[in-house]
Amino acid sequence: MPKIKMIIDCDTGIDDALAISYILSNPNIELLGITTTFGNIPVDTSVRNTLALLNMLNRNDIKVYRGAEHGWNQEEYEREPFLDRVHGVNGIGDVEIEDSPNKAEDISAVDFILDCARKYPDELHLVFVGPLTNFANCIKQDEQALSKVKDITIMGGALTVTGNRNIYGEANVTDDPAAGKYVFDSSLHINVVPLDATMRTMFKASYIEDWTQINEAGKNLYEIAKFYYLGEFSNPETGGAMHDPLAAFASYDPTIITNWYECNVTIEETGRMIGTFDQLNLPEKRHKVALNVDAKRFTDTYVSMVSDLLKNIDE
Ligand code: CA
Repeated sequence: MPKIKMIIDCDTGIDDALAISYILSNPNIELLGITTTFGNIPVDTSVRNTLALLNMLNRNDIKVYRGAEHGWNQEEYEREPFLDRVHGVNGIGDVEIEDSPNKAEDISAVDFILDCARKYPDELHLVFVGPLTNFANCIKQDEQALSKVKDITIMGGALTVTGNRNIYGEANVTDDPAAGKYVFDSSLHINVVPLDATMRTMFKASYIEDWTQINEAGKNLYEIAKFYYLGEFSNPETGGAMHDPLAAFASYDPTIITNWYECNVTIEETGRMIGTFDQLNLPEKRHKVALNVDAKRFTDTYVSMVSDLLKNIDE
């Protein structure tokens, strides 16, 4: 079976790092590159963290592309103070990992995504796990090329539950609601993995305690995850949601989602993801929204695959 070609677009914080680790652990995925955006951290930190993570996992062959610095309706990036508590000041749980010898590529995130969309029609999987600014910029430039992308999966939004950035809005869409609206109002078919699914994947540091015994990378990845899973709800027994890893997993294996709701939604200024009356009667449903997940299979598979990745890191 040929490998599926994937690009992941990240604001490399903690769950982004865990999503990248999953993709690298999957032998059936060819990761063409990683594009970066502002979000959990400024875009330059996102580039830095992504490169450092790839270096730590012995995958300096994967190229990194720099993307948006701020949202469409912002003059500049402003970091919400609470993010220090969720992702750490450095975005990866304040764990100090070595800088990569590599730098970001010269071409932009948007150009890289569009180049790959044109080069691999009906093959490419795009996974967006940060604010939707890069994606919206891609659509603005060449929506036609994106219509040939095989699978577009977004981590974002909240349909039947409250938001995590404000009462309505999930963080990724609320970081740039104008870009989010542009994405959801486009002609593209999109799989959406919102809080409705991700908040069912509560993950505890205790699941991966033995990573500390594998090697330095395992120890670091455990410490990165632990910050989040202790920090998000300040209770190790509650754990933390695997937002970005679930989106990456669902792009590869959509059967992990046990309820895909087909609909049309948009993004309001508040960051709320919701359908409009006009959309209700449209014959074509462009959005598949994940409302439930086989959380046990997801968690067990995730832990097992990333454990194997860590064990084989030096080969
Ligand atoms: Ca993210």
